[in-house]
Amino acid sequence: MPRILMEVINKLVTLKAHMDGSPQESDFVIKTETLSLSAVLESKDVLVKNIYVSIDPYQINRMKSLCSSQTASGSSYAAGIAPGQAIDTHGVGRVVVSGNPDFKKDDLVVGRIGWGEYSIVKEGANLDKLNPLGFPYSYHVGILGVSGFTAYAGFYEICQPKKGERVFVSAAAGSVGNIVGQYAKLFGCYVVGCAGSQEKVDLLKNKLGFDDAFNYKEETDLKAAVAKYFPDGVDIYFDNVGGEMLEAAVANMNQFGRVAVCGVIAEYTEKGKRAAPDMIDIVYKRITIRGFLAGDYMSQFPEFISATSDHLKTGRMHSIEDISQGLESIPSAFAGLFRGDNVGKKIVQIADE
Ligand code: NAP
Repeated sequence: MPRILMEVINKLVTLKAHMDGSPQESDFVIKTETLSLSAVLESKDVLVKNIYVSIDPYQINRMKSLCSSQTASGSSYAAGIAPGQAIDTHGVGRVVVSGNPDFKKDDLVVGRIGWGEYSIVKEGANLDKLNPLGFPYSYHVGILGVSGFTAYAGFYEICQPKKGERVFVSAAAGSVGNIVGQYAKLFGCYVVGCAGSQEKVDLLKNKLGFDDAFNYKEETDLKAAVAKYFPDGVDIYFDNVGGEMLEAAVANMNQFGRVAVCGVIAEYTEKGKRAAPDMIDIVYKRITIRGFLAGDYMSQFPEFISATSDHLKTGRMHSIEDISQGLESIPSAFAGLFRGDNVGKKIVQIADE
């Protein structure tokens, strides 16, 4: 008689203690747990073997003992993560066993999985069958996943671009930033990005078609740097970093300029650091500063997939990915986001496709 496997052993990454300051690899620990397949089958849960998982800066705010983001949005995606608890994230995996009639063994799925070898996805949680549309599965974590959609919703909905406008993007070689710049170029804008190394600046200018780019770490006066790259002013600032770069962008904005505040990574690790843009500029130049969460625009996801996959197929857009191998690489992949280690979308591959 073959032995019926009723349990799987799962390794997962958890927090040792709440996060305070810049993340280090040593803030995490890999723990082992046993998952019961019979419990999954008796419920409407789905057990997923994780293949690609997303590594995102915003998770740090969930890992703090206290952060306004944990309650401000009302979204479970922003909820606090306690030490020892599983860490949920966007990713791609394959169904191992399902108590949910909508999924069957070996289905390829995308949705809310976790930083572990396996995830139990509860009934009603975000999980969909994935049609890869001929693209590598990892694209559905990056350019065709949440990062790409954030860029799409943020650029088209929040920035309200017009052809010929001058667009400034920070963390421009990162996951969201590089895609914003690509959309803005395709739309007919003049685009300048800033990033933290010469390698990233070269990528933006030589591969992604940005009109210009600069290494902000080499600039002593950010206001003067933005002024140098935008002699005619900035119409749109897509902000991924906050802090001094937001102040510099506002100082250089044109009348009726728009700032899309996607994230403020420069403020995530330093409690006291807050952007203080000149509010007189905001009033007299009639500048709009608007925060947004990509999840509010999900009705536009199908049009985003259609437009972006078309751009990818015709070579008008490029996917920039930075994939590390193995569950054990998750802590360094995450900490690396805050050191600028990643080029493009940071993903960890946990298992073979
Ligand atoms: P990412 O840009 O791929 O990675 C983070 C990058 O930020 C790093 O590579 C680094 O690049 C830069 N960085 C790190 N610390 C910095 C600092 N102190 N000052 C300036 N730059 C710093 O990450 P992402 O996933 O695309 O996220 C970008 C931003 O969007 C984050 O703020 C994130 O929280 C936000 N986000 C928002 C939404 C939403 O719905 N609103 C969704 C997804 C992401 P350099 O080498 O250039 O320094």
